[in-house]
Amino acid sequence: MEVGILKNCSGSAYIEQGKTKIIVAVHGPREAHPKHLALPDRALLRTRYHMAPFSTGERKSPAPTRREIELTKVIREALEPSLLLEEFPKTTIDVFIEVLQADAGTRSAGVTAASLALAEAGIPMRDLVAAIAVGKIGGQLVLDLNEEEDEHGQADMPVAMMPNLNRITLLQLNGRLTKEEIVTGLTLAQKGIGKLYELQRQALKSVVEKNIGE
Ligand code: ADP
Repeated sequence: MEVGILKNCSGSAYIEQGKTKIIVAVHGPREAHPKHLALPDRALLRTRYHMAPFSTGERKSPAPTRREIELTKVIREALEPSLLLEEFPKTTIDVFIEVLQADAGTRSAGVTAASLALAEAGIPMRDLVAAIAVGKIGGQLVLDLNEEEDEHGQADMPVAMMPNLNRITLLQLNGRLTKEEIVTGLTLAQKGIGKLYELQRQALKSVVEKNIGE
């Protein structure tokens, strides 16, 4: 993870998780345009999840796919509870999530990097958000599937959490898991998210130290 990699935005972050590579840029808070979009009591959080045409093995259509539209919404909902949007009424905050290379887990890595970029943009937050997917392969629960594992797995359960507050902000399940597996899977996710959180803190510390040095 790296924070502060782009200059023409309020905050940015880069994440590599396995072969998945994502860059996130945040703009704002800035005055809402067009004005009718403005909310009187808080900032409007907008996200855009986009896969670069070269990010997948098969050529991806440049037009937004249904999946991209869904992930745009899912990522926004995973980040929103962490942000104190009421501090910036009538403004917009834009979060651009660009998948450069996809090897599964892009929504999770996108959330983790977006939270870092929002922190660099100085948006006050209750906690960072980090995310990871729990999977099931050959009857075994595992963390952080790659594309091949995702294709052959029996389940895929992305989880996003605010690690300090111990609150879940995103929980999806593709496939089937028993009640016990969900509980075990959540504990596993919590552990993975704890590790991601440490890496997020290190990345933020590095950018602060770099800025002080300059
Ligand atoms: P996530 O990336 O959050 O795991 P999915 O489960 O929908 O989301 O996708 C799993 C993986 O499948 C993606 O990360 C990517 O590697 C691959 N994938 C998704 N859409 C496409 C596509 N249009 N073409 C090729 N591969 C894709």
